[in-house]
Amino acid sequence: MAEPEFVHIVPQSLEAYRELLVDGDGFEGMDQAAAMAKRIYAGRAIWHVNSTLSGGGVSEILRSLLPYARGAGVDVRWVVLREIPEFFELTKRIHNNLHGNPGDGGELGESEHRLYEETLAESGNRLGDLVRTDDVIFLHDPQTAGLVPLMAAAGARVVWRCHIGVDHPNQLVRRAWRFLSPYVEEADAYVFSRPEYIWDSLDQARTRVMAPSIDPFLSKNQDLSPDVVEAILWTIGLADKETSVVPVFTRADGTPGRVERHAELFEEAPLPAEVKLVAQISRWDELKDHPGVLECFSRYLDDPDIHLALVGPSDGSVSDDPEGAAVLADVIAAWRQLPDAKRSRAHIVILPMDDLEENGAMVNAIQRRADVIIQKSLAEGFGLTVSEGMWKERPVVASRLGGIQDQIVDGESGVLIDDPRDLESFGRAIRDLLDDPVRAAKMGKAARSRVMNSFLGIYRLKGYVELLAALDSTGDRAG
Ligand code: UDP
Repeated sequence: MAEPEFVHIVPQSLEAYRELLVDGDGFEGMDQAAAMAKRIYAGRAIWHVNSTLSGGGVSEILRSLLPYARGAGVDVRWVVLREIPEFFELTKRIHNNLHGNPGDGGELGESEHRLYEETLAESGNRLGDLVRTDDVIFLHDPQTAGLVPLMAAAGARVVWRCHIGVDHPNQLVRRAWRFLSPYVEEADAYVFSRPEYIWDSLDQARTRVMAPSIDPFLSKNQDLSPDVVEAILWTIGLADKETSVVPVFTRADGTPGRVERHAELFEEAPLPAEVKLVAQISRWDELKDHPGVLECFSRYLDDPDIHLALVGPSDGSVSDDPEGAAVLADVIAAWRQLPDAKRSRAHIVILPMDDLEENGAMVNAIQRRADVIIQKSLAEGFGLTVSEGMWKERPVVASRLGGIQDQIVDGESGVLIDDPRDLESFGRAIRDLLDDPVRAAKMGKAARSRVMNSFLGIYRLKGYVELLAALDSTGDRAG
């Protein structure tokens, strides 16, 4: 393995939230919570460990929460594991199984336990040298679950945070639970994204539910004027309309950033300014069903004025996702096979990840340019891209599964499609919104207020402080 990577966390003040939440609800109790966290955790560190710096929901959530803890004076640290490819192939299989999907179809037997434990033992040793008794360590997802006993042995309080699950577990899900259970059982607390995801085999008294959230101030979600949106799309090469406006955004440290890089594009010609755009933004993952989106577009959105963008990160940038390159290759092959007239209206957009804040601004601009955002997942832990689109007043059409159902109130703040494989219903829902801009705008407004009231990071920060206080009051380590 390579050394675990320490991620730089730029401290943020909560004051921006005070201004955003004009009526003050939501901010209530925040000062006290911050002061409490600082007091209880004086002289102790709170660690978060995950397995990719970029390109997925978990890193996004950490980026939206940890800077505020730092800003409140809490010594919070973020470590990214760097492991061998075989390990990430195995953990991707576990990830897929936890979604009820066979993934690469491989086993979860004794040799997999051996690989899993031997790989994590080294990282565990390195972290064990750094973590002190009474520190708290949050271990995220299956990739880090095997560290639970090692960190507990180092004297830390351990929280296992599971971001994935399914509404109805099948045999594969249970197989993955069985694989991970011996490790996670020793945690002091478990956090799941939805009540439905809690494993029935775990001590229910130690579990909590916390939904993910977005940060409205990051480059991915901050306000962008329409001309800056155009300028970003022109700079990355997606749009055909040249502009002299500078494609600027604001970095987390307050300094101005500028979009400079190009996207890698598979398209016949750039996106015309006057057409309607339907976009899905996600990792290149089978469970995001890109082929289904292309087929839906080809069969049910056959109109010269409707274009499609499938947008995702550059190859290899999501370090714990070894399947991304193959999925992307299949998407490009499917795009090539579209009939000419349809292919000329579909754009595969691969965004550079060299500068994550710049990448965020690109995602932001594409989401704002889209007339309808879709998330046609076949399984989804939460689906942050849904809240991201809703925050920008976009109508989102998405599969009724996982955390997507918690975000969208069907017919009000978006549209949920019961069967994720029902292409016709997806097509019709998208079409209806494109044909009725007044309804789409109303839905977009409702979508933003839904995120404003429920899915901003500030609401979760209080939950974390409560959890930390509870962990602190449990005295001796549970387990
Ligand atoms: N994302 C990104 N750049 C990309 C594609 C995706 O930053 O090119 C982000 C996206 O904006 C979202 C996250 O990756 O914040 C995906 O999170 P989600 O919960 O939707 O799905 P996951 O990847 O965790 O399955």
